[in-house]
Amino acid sequence: MLWLSECLYCGEFVYHLSDGRLKCSVCHKKISKEKINKIITLIDAFAEDETARHTAKRLDLSYVSVQRNFHHFRLLAATISEREYQNIRHLSCEFEEYFYLEETKKQKQEAVFDAQNFLTFDYQNHIYTLLLPSLQKYKNQFLEDNVEGAYIETFKKFKRESRLIKVSKYDNNIVQFWHYFEEKIKPYKGIKNETFIYFLKEFEFKYNHTKQEVKELLIKEYFQA
Ligand SMILES: [Zn+2]
Repeated sequence: MLWLSECLYCGEFVYHLSDGRLKCSVCHKKISKEKINKIITLIDAFAEDETARHTAKRLDLSYVSVQRNFHHFRLLAATISEREYQNIRHLSCEFEEYFYLEETKKQKQEAVFDAQNFLTFDYQNHIYTLLLPSLQKYKNQFLEDNVEGAYIETFKKFKRESRLIKVSKYDNNIVQFWHYFEEKIKPYKGIKNETFIYFLKEFEFKYNHTKQEVKELLIKEYFQA
């Protein structure tokens, strides 16, 4: 394994200390082999789309700790995604708007307020997403004012129209991403509004890369950022 001879932080040669830790000859950082092993094993599981709960059970680790690490990986994935976007944003692109709703909420009238609305850009086969503000905070106001009916009608019409455009015009990279996202997000029921963006960015990142790349990029980002 490479990390037994090369520093994960800077790539230089590492010494093996008698207490089982590795010490870098240049940046002098010390890290235990157990810690490296644990992080790389967790990144592996994350890259394979294993849930935190399942991973914790399989590795006999605390769920809270695995969950915390996975959340950190999602932040790293979002950081890498934003950086990649900076490198491609000058390219020409197509984009489409998407409403995501959990399966169980789809039938509800007031579902519009729970929908996650995001733009999906296709920069010559590289997907980028931009989450738009949620309507949730207006939900109570609308219900109080009794005007949600008109709003829901308009929304329904819009949804139908945009679906028609999708079906007739595309089976392109953007639509493929939506299918992929709907499939991947399924195991995560009841995601809170404020954490949705991290899952969106996680799957944007994974969609743009092979599993091997996902692992390598996350390991690099984890130790070198
Ligand atoms: Zn180093």
